[in-house]
Amino acid sequence: MIKKNDILDITIDSLGSEGEGIGRIEGYALFVKDALIGDKVRVKIMKMKKSYGFARLMEVLEPSPYRVEPVCPVARQCGGCQLQHLDYEKQVEYKQDKVKNCLERIGKFNIVMEESKANDENTIFMEPAIGMESSFYYRNKAQFPMGLDKDGNVVTGFYAARSHSIIPTTNCYIQAEVNKELLTIVKDFLQEFGISTYDEENHKGLVRHILTRVGYTTKEIMVCLIINGAKLPHAEELVERLTKIEGMTSICLNVNKEKTNVILGNQVIPLWGQDYITDYIGDIKFQISPLSFYQVNPVQTKELYSQALEYADLTGNEIVWDMYCGIGTISLFLAKKAKKVYGVEIVSQAIEDAKKNAQINEITNAEFFVGAAEEVVPEKYKKDHIKADVVVVDPPRKGCAESLLETIVAMEPKRVVYVSCDPATLARDLRYLADHGFNVVKARAVDMFPNSAHVESVALLERK
Ligand code: SAH
Repeated sequence: MIKKNDILDITIDSLGSEGEGIGRIEGYALFVKDALIGDKVRVKIMKMKKSYGFARLMEVLEPSPYRVEPVCPVARQCGGCQLQHLDYEKQVEYKQDKVKNCLERIGKFNIVMEESKANDENTIFMEPAIGMESSFYYRNKAQFPMGLDKDGNVVTGFYAARSHSIIPTTNCYIQAEVNKELLTIVKDFLQEFGISTYDEENHKGLVRHILTRVGYTTKEIMVCLIINGAKLPHAEELVERLTKIEGMTSICLNVNKEKTNVILGNQVIPLWGQDYITDYIGDIKFQISPLSFYQVNPVQTKELYSQALEYADLTGNEIVWDMYCGIGTISLFLAKKAKKVYGVEIVSQAIEDAKKNAQINEITNAEFFVGAAEEVVPEKYKKDHIKADVVVVDPPRKGCAESLLETIVAMEPKRVVYVSCDPATLARDLRYLADHGFNVVKARAVDMFPNSAHVESVALLERK
């Protein structure tokens, strides 16, 4: 019998939902962070549950053929990238498998990889995953915590996995390259003027985080300092230094005086320029403020939305409902090809943004409602018998509430396009819809977050 603190050698045969390696001994599964499929590893058992346990990677005895040297020197300590040490093609394969497994295991569907083989109602044709050409420098938004190192120097970087200790780095390989310069400027400024950084333990100190956004198409840059106070001393000096960077468009402060893990507060104080940047997805223009939710991978967002648009198969006559619409990104992307689009979103600020974005794009056939989709949509159905030709949903990880799915079924759309950031809840919800009059026709994984274990996917359902 194996027990806690045992050291043993195992072969990793699969990857778990967070990218951790899984190996087996005597039929018992061990989760090993930083170990990869195909690795032969020496591990120490740290924690044991009834049917599985957790072990620490001590040594890679024989590396997996898919193991690559991470580009980033802090890849292993940092909580951001779980898969940088896996060959990118394999990362995409892993993500596709993750979606496939969930659809099979949780959704009880058959999955085929060739369309000609999808010839019964319970079979889904899985199209090849959409990966990126390069898996680095793809993010348009970064939030770096600020703190002090043990010698009292200002540092910035990322939190280590499951902790709040800062791994110092100004050079994050999945962020826009210009961040390195921006971070160095802010860090030097704080150090030179003796401006304090925030200390979570005693809720003291001023500068908590730096938020940066970079417009992928426009190259416009935003720098926002999140502060535990109302004013930044010597702000004019920081502005002078930052405005030397080409593309600088917005410099602002965000006030967050709460003792909380939530990064942003509600109040934005502009220091210089506009309080937003502009960017495009396809030919739709978006104004993005520090508080706006906006997809972080512009290249793959375009791929994802194009896939959703293809699945929606619009001719110009359709009524479309876009549930969980955020700032209206999918809604506006579809509006040009539909008769009318309705968006529903729980965050009222996002709906304000959606309305403004419709306006600046001169889109007049989109209407937006604030509220929980599972409340607003059933209510409107009861009152006004709303109908839809196409329904799009893009819920958070927990998926759709059953009351919403029930109403979608009642609305009798021809097609449902399901965009998902969690394949487990996707599979659960697709099963519900498949049992209530829909065929799940196609599904596809899209890699929105290279080097992380997250996977986005999109599925097409047609009413029987
Ligand atoms: N479709 C958008 C946003 C998707 S993220 C885009 O592609 O940019 C999911 C969105 O669902 C978030 O904006 C979140 O605020 C919203 N949301 C979360 N719970 C909700 C609920 N119960 N009803 C409606 N919207 C919700």
